[in-house]
Amino acid sequence: MIDLHTHSRASDGTDDPAQVLEAAAAAGVRVVALTDHDTTAGWRQAAEAVGRTGVALVRGTEISTRARTADGGVSVHLLSYLHDPDDPALRAEWDRTRTSRMDRARRMVDLLAQDYPLTWDDVVEQTGDEATVGRPHLADALVVAGVVASRDEAFATMLHAGSRYYVGHYAPDVAGAVRAVVAAGGVPVMAHPGAGKRGRIVDDETIAALADAGLAGLEVDHRDHDAPTRDRLRALARDLGLLVTGSSDYHGTGKLNRIGEHTTAPEVLEEIEARGTLGVVRP
Ligand code: AMP
Ligand code: FE
Ligand code: FE
Ligand code: ZN
Repeated sequence: MIDLHTHSRASDGTDDPAQVLEAAAAAGVRVVALTDHDTTAGWRQAAEAVGRTGVALVRGTEISTRARTADGGVSVHLLSYLHDPDDPALRAEWDRTRTSRMDRARRMVDLLAQDYPLTWDDVVEQTGDEATVGRPHLADALVVAGVVASRDEAFATMLHAGSRYYVGHYAPDVAGAVRAVVAAGGVPVMAHPGAGKRGRIVDDETIAALADAGLAGLEVDHRDHDAPTRDRLRALARDLGLLVTGSSDYHGTGKLNRIGEHTTAPEVLEEIEARGTLGVVRP
């Protein structure tokens, strides 16, 4: 089993990077990609756990980007695999995004604190060292404060994009990010492109334009896609010559997603590894 999308405490997962590989081993997953949001901070600890767990590691990052539209923009998550982690352009963009995410989290806490018993320190306590901060950390702090029972309840109530407590953050343009990933030797795959419940999604024309810019694949098999959406995306990938992946988007106990619940074919991983500048770390 090959699962190419997971999160650790380097972003908004609840497992340490090594524990993600342990969870993979326990579930029978043989190859796992660690894809924390806008960072490579978990790569080293994950790579150290490969020998002990026997799970091969694909080093990746899930990049927060935006597709510009006439009426604003659509949030797009772009998975990058096997890129140079020291690439200056990628690093500069991720630094900018993480700084903006920090400012935005503070502003959301200021707004929430007007109505709920929540402080910035409560959020810091829920956030791993060097971690990319996100709404899930605010959710965890709200759970500890007794305001909500779960991350899910927090997202359903005060943290969703339409909430009065919601503040956005900087994210680079998706086409520029696709080109930057390719220039850094990475393999860009669009994460959950049809996940309409999270917010607006991009149209087929935008995906076709991204394919021209160097997009390598679409994450088709994902729990946020229903069967008709998967059929549509699979057909689109075929038309555009894109790879098809499937993955769990595991976040530890932070989400219901179980590691290995969706998987990617071995020949697709082979193609990703052939195109990437880094190799898969094997036991
Ligand atoms: P942010 O990156 O700060 O905008 O927050 C979005 C992140 O929150 C996504 O990466 C998801 O992993 C997570 N998320 C979204 N909805 C939920 C939910 N209902 N329960 C738990 N986590 C969620
Ligand atoms: Fe996340
Ligand atoms: Fe995502
Ligand atoms: Zn993710």
